Amino acid sequence: MQVLVVEDERRMAELLKQGLEEEGHSVVLAGNGRDGLAMAETHPFDAIVLDVMLPGIDGFSVARKLRAARNQTPILMLTARDTIGDMVEGLNLGADDYLVKPFSFEVLVARLRAVSRRGPIPQPVTLRVEDLTLNPATRDVTRGDRRISLTRTEYSLLELLMRRAGRVVPRESLIEAVWGFDSDVRNNTLDAFIRLVREKVEGAAGPKLIQTVRGVGYCLRKEEA
Ligand code: CA
Repeated sequence: MQVLVVEDERRMAELLKQGLEEEGHSVVLAGNGRDGLAMAETHPFDAIVLDVMLPGIDGFSVARKLRAARNQTPILMLTARDTIGDMVEGLNLGADDYLVKPFSFEVLVARLRAVSRRGPIPQPVTLRVEDLTLNPATRDVTRGDRRISLTRTEYSLLELLMRRAGRVVPRESLIEAVWGFDSDVRNNTLDAFIRLVREKVEGAAGPKLIQTVRGVGYCLRKEEA
């Protein structure tokens, strides 16, 4: 395997390089996040060992930027014990697995083998209704050529409607999915947010896509002519 190791601690980096080469892998070292990102973007590695704490761009940002650029190279993150709480975020951003320092080299080799065997993670499908698209991986929303900027709540509502496009989504389902099961959000709050999403999504041109189904909920589909 060709492995990119992004680690600023020189001794650690050298140990990883030596150990992985003894295992038969070829290793490229990067000493900071910026270099690591540039190398990962320009060369197809089989796996990336990525330290979290790096000068300049940290490991989380490197992982996020790679995934946003649709780079699906398996990533094994290295984290110190005091940043382990952040690893949930790391995994959400696209890391495939992580190891807490200090770790044994055998464990690293085994985990690296496991993440690379999984291979590139399939790209989440972009949701599309007419000329409206939503990419769950990057959270990019566009209508035609126009990029749409949504708040967190607006995005959640639209994603749910798009995942169930063509079907009526009951009000309770929308409220439950976006605000939680025991929230005291009321119907008029939902309506207010739907109005905001509509203003951004519909614009002046194109058919109306978010339909109100009276007494039931909302449905994303092209308006019947
Ligand atoms: Ca470090």
